[in-house]
Amino acid sequence: MNIYNTMSQKKELFKPMNEKRVKLFVCGPTVYDDAHIGHARTYISFDVIKRYLEYRGFKVFYLQNITDIDDKIINRAVEIGMDPEKLAKKFEKRYQIDMNLLGVNGVNFFARATDHIHEIIKQIETLIEKGFAYETENGVYFDEAKFLDYGKLSRRKLEDLNVHRVNIDKTKKNPGDFALWKKRDQKPIWDSPWGPGRPGWHIEDTAITEEYFGPQYDIHGGGLDLIFPHHEAEIAQMESASGKQPMVRYWMHTGFLNVSGEKMSKSLGNFITIRDLLEKHDGETFRFFVLSTHYRSPIDFSEKSLEQAGKSLKRIRKIVEKLNELKKDAEETNSFDDYFKGIMDGSSSDFFKAMDNDFNTPEGLAIVFNLIKELNKSFKVKNPSRSVLMDISSFFNELSEILGINFNNIPDSFTDEELSTQLLDLVVNLRQKLRERKEWELSDEIRDKLNDLDIQIEDK
Ligand code: AMP
Repeated sequence: MNIYNTMSQKKELFKPMNEKRVKLFVCGPTVYDDAHIGHARTYISFDVIKRYLEYRGFKVFYLQNITDIDDKIINRAVEIGMDPEKLAKKFEKRYQIDMNLLGVNGVNFFARATDHIHEIIKQIETLIEKGFAYETENGVYFDEAKFLDYGKLSRRKLEDLNVHRVNIDKTKKNPGDFALWKKRDQKPIWDSPWGPGRPGWHIEDTAITEEYFGPQYDIHGGGLDLIFPHHEAEIAQMESASGKQPMVRYWMHTGFLNVSGEKMSKSLGNFITIRDLLEKHDGETFRFFVLSTHYRSPIDFSEKSLEQAGKSLKRIRKIVEKLNELKKDAEETNSFDDYFKGIMDGSSSDFFKAMDNDFNTPEGLAIVFNLIKELNKSFKVKNPSRSVLMDISSFFNELSEILGINFNNIPDSFTDEELSTQLLDLVVNLRQKLRERKEWELSDEIRDKLNDLDIQIEDK
């Protein structure tokens, strides 16, 4: 298998540290509001990545942190007059529910920042001891200049970065030094060797991964926006604290979900929450929509593209239904078996090749749709035996497991809206036929009755 590594900016052969065991960490959400469908894009992608690694025989431990202490949480809590801890708990719960509704259930352990204050303090102490961090009257800071590899993930140089930086906090040595511990007296705060306060954002992830995975592990994931400064800071902290490199073997980043070319985000206000989406659409259609694009590429969200994804998903469900029907009275052997085995084996091997190539779901799905086209064409003239039909069905079952979408879930054929559009087309076409036969009375009656329903037909 090959995985694109943001660090090398190349696809690399996947070789975990421990042969068949994979340690996967993905940055979790900051729980101060409901998650939006941009978040969902990232978490669906990693859910499928985990599913596929498991399909390939790896035992994956998927760890995710929950940022339940952060300035955003505190500001929001003040804004709505709620206790920050209660606010974080509330949105953490809602996040878990949303993920379950989207079939995102592969995380083995969620680690809250506030449950790991001890580990955070321990890591900060190590960084101070080793000379990578220092205390000021405002907090404890990481000394960026001491980590010579700073910028290696995002390919930035400290000198270039510093040209644009202004040191607002005059207690810091360098403008880019980031907080490991913020001295504060307003709750929620914890005791520390440097007085009461709370942790900075970056340190929670490395304290958590060190606790569960040790200083080095296999895959670290997140959205593209986290490469800098977040993941860069993580590398600086962990590699300085442990003296071991690399902290992570494969850095994986998802592309953004955009609306009209702009990243969907809370701050831009252009977001659709997962809850809003699920009021109108089903979660599996959204999953299918997400997986129709490669995880590293941007996706432009629109109702139209979601609708298109729904139609494509229906095509897969239809062929699965057809296979089930054919199995009912299929023969035990058939002279066309070799023909069907040929197309099936070719498609399945191409599909897995696409997935082995950095989880290329859109290419994989294109192969599946080609297979469906071939099958539909062939079923019109010849049918295979039951055992070959079973083989074809098991391919679709595997696909369903990997994508996390149930293909046996045949929807009630059409939504109300689709049904009314189709019925209207039917009436209009029939009326046209009547007109061609010069049956004016009946065709006028149809037009008038439609008029009563507020539907105007004009014959031009
Ligand atoms: P946050 O809670 O903002 O830290 O985001 C949690 C995760 O969702 C991070 O990995 C982000 O990169 C990712 N994320 C946020 N917005 C988007 C978006 N519009 N498209 C894709 N991923 C996103």
